[in-house]
This record gives sequence, structure tokens and C-alpha cells, in this order.
Amino acid sequence: MHRILGKRVTRIVFLVSVGLFVTAVHSSVKGFRTPNLVTPGTLQAAASSRPFVIRHARIFDGKRVIAADSVFVQNAKIQSVGKRIKVPSGTEEIDATGDTLLPGLIDSHTHDWGDSPKQALLFGVTTELNMACIPKYVAKIKQAEAEGKALDAADVLSAGNVVTPPKGHGTEFGVPVPTLASSAEAQQFVDERIAEGSDYIKIIYEDGHVCHSPFSKFSREELAASVAAAHKRGKMAIVHISTQEDARDAIAAGADGIAHLFADSAPQSDFAELVRRHHAFVETTLTAIQSSFGTPSGASLSIDHRIAEFLSAGAESNLKALMPFKCSGELENALAAAKQLHDAGVPVLAGTDAPAPGSWNGASLHGELELLVRAGLSPLDALAATTSLPASTFICPTVAASRLASGPISCLSGVTRPMTLSPQGTSLPSGSSGLKLTG
Ligand SMILES: [Zn+2]
Repeated sequence: MHRILGKRVTRIVFLVSVGLFVTAVHSSVKGFRTPNLVTPGTLQAAASSRPFVIRHARIFDGKRVIAADSVFVQNAKIQSVGKRIKVPSGTEEIDATGDTLLPGLIDSHTHDWGDSPKQALLFGVTTELNMACIPKYVAKIKQAEAEGKALDAADVLSAGNVVTPPKGHGTEFGVPVPTLASSAEAQQFVDERIAEGSDYIKIIYEDGHVCHSPFSKFSREELAASVAAAHKRGKMAIVHISTQEDARDAIAAGADGIAHLFADSAPQSDFAELVRRHHAFVETTLTAIQSSFGTPSGASLSIDHRIAEFLSAGAESNLKALMPFKCSGELENALAAAKQLHDAGVPVLAGTDAPAPGSWNGASLHGELELLVRAGLSPLDALAATTSLPASTFICPTVAASRLASGPISCLSGVTRPMTLSPQGTSLPSGSSGLKLTG
């Protein structure tokens, strides 16, 4: 799964593992204003199949900063992690003093087109969990990944076409999409999505009133039938919502996760406990929520020199773009929900909804992390929300046992491909079983 390269990313190093991937970035975990992605010299090491060791780094393993300060890589795999680790003579030494090594970032809610997966990687996002996309586009990306030709782009897993009723959300973009007219057809509809390549099933459950754009909405029965149809095939069911009431309905219907926090009301005191009891997760999309109140979330990112350096003209203008609608509610409600859910132990996964207006793939994840910290998460917890938490939620075998017990959830193999470090476009031979961050 990894890759890199291209002149613009010559300062990034990616070491990958089974969903665990290490990026060399400057700086502290205090701020999320982007990666000063780099360390001179690391690329050269990564660009080679020769063994190398990174020393004197602060290492965040997806959950915490560990005591080790060195990582030894050989045969494109992390062989050991520790302090003063011994390495074979001739091993290239990389001094990462002042840098932090951390897993590759996962954006748990994106949409993609064009070269957006490439752009995501520029900002350290190595996996995008796409929550609606044209299946043929995703199929092409996956084929390129399988052939080892997508070394300069983030991995993409996707819901493909969503499950939505006629005139439901998702039908308004001018692209013909299939729609589900009744519960009786739910299984066949879901089966068709799976046949198209959907890695998980995304179900739309909203009437649009919060953002003043009316849509048809499923009944509770249709929602439950769609969730059940996904579970019957071992797929996760992720339900798009925009209100607290709809979020509660989604959880009651058995959703594995809800897409978007709600901002229409402050979270009721029992909301997080409801979600926790049902072993569900949430995808935050605070970036999009902030933008939906009339302030482009990405405007400040676009003028941060650490981000601006990597932005195309299109990316810059999209970061500054306004949503075509304005919603009712308050960002503070969504921030409060994020905090309440996090405190209750619910997996709160950082997702951006990029490239919705006001955001951009990759760049906006750094803004999303800032918003999570503003919500009250610690910086390390925010980092976990974009590394270990989505990895354990979406990647087998670490799917929470309780969730496996409550329904047949499939493993997503797409993000467990063996690592390839890719120098100058040439990937190292893929190993057999991926990498483990050990030690
Ligand atoms: Zn979305």
C-alpha cells in the first residue's frame, strides 16, 4: 500500500504496515497545521531497497507516544522498533531528531474524482474511506493499486453508489444513480452495490430540511431493511444523517456507523451512551459542517504555507469555496457531540467530506484534527481518530469483537496489502503478509 514520489513529495517517507504506516513529519503532536512533511535524507533511504534505520524520532504508534526512538526497515518491512537497536553494518542511518514518526493518516469520509487520491497523499493521507463514488472510477483505482501502479496515491475503499430513495439525497448531482423504491427490493439493491464493488454500504437517511434542500427520505422500515440487507452479506452499513433524531433512528436500525455528526441540536445526555451500547462509530465531518454555516472551513488552511506549498490552483480555490447552501444549526452542537461520544468510548473517526466546497482531499484532514482538538479531544486522541481508530474499525482482524459478535461484519482486505516503498516510481517487491510495527 505504499508509495510515494513525485517531485512535490520528495520530503515524505512512508513506511507501511498492515494498516499501520509510518510517516516522517516534523513537529509536535500539538498542532495539526500540517505536516512539515519531511526529513532530508529520508527519501533517499526510502527510495532504496537497502535497509535503513531511522533514529532519534519521537514515535506515535497510533495510540500513544512510545518509548522507542528508532525504527529499522529491511526488505521493505519494519523489522524492529526500539532504542539503540542494532542493525546490520552498512545500514543507512537517518537522523530524525526533532521529527515524529506516525502511522499514515486515514480520512474516514471522502469523495473522490480525478486525481484526488494523489492529492490526498501529498498531505500524509494514505487511505481514503470514500463514502460515495462512481463505481467505475473506484474500480479503475483499485485495478491500478492491484497492479502496483498507484504508488503515488492514497488507497481508496468505497461505498460506491449509495442506497437512497427516488429523489433522495445523492440524486441531485446530475449523474444518474440507482435508487431504492421499497423495502422489498432492499436485498437486491444492496447485492447490486456489492457486485459493483462496494466495500461497505452507505445508506442515506435525511429529508434535507436542515439545509433547506428537500429530499425524499426512507421510512424507518426501509432504513432497517437496507441495514439488514448489508449485514446479511457481511457488509458494514453506514448511515448518512444530518439531525440528532435521524442519528438515533440510524442507531436503532442497527447502523454500524453514522456518517456526519449532527449540528441541529445539542446532543441529548443519553446520545453517546446509545451509540456506545450499539457498538457503533461516527464519522465526524466537522470540516463540512463548519463550511455549511457559511464559512469555508479550508480558507485558513489555504494560506498556511505548509499546506499552500502542495496545493494545486483547483485545490486552493475549493478550500476557499462556499457551500451552495447554508444550513441551520451550530457548529458547537457537532463539537459537543464529538466530545460526548469520545468520552463515552465511541470510536470517533476523523472524516472531512472532501472535496466538498470548503475542503480538499488530504489538506482538510489537518483542519479536521484541529476541530477535534477544539471539540475537546487531546491532540493524541485526535491523531488516534485518524490512525488506529479507523484502522481497527475498518480493517480485520481488529474489528471490535463486540461488533463482530453483533453481526457478520466483513474484513476489508483492501488496506492490508503488503507495503511497497516506492522510490522514483519503482516499488520495492511487495512482501507476502504486510508489515507489523513491532516492539
Ligand atoms: Zn459525504
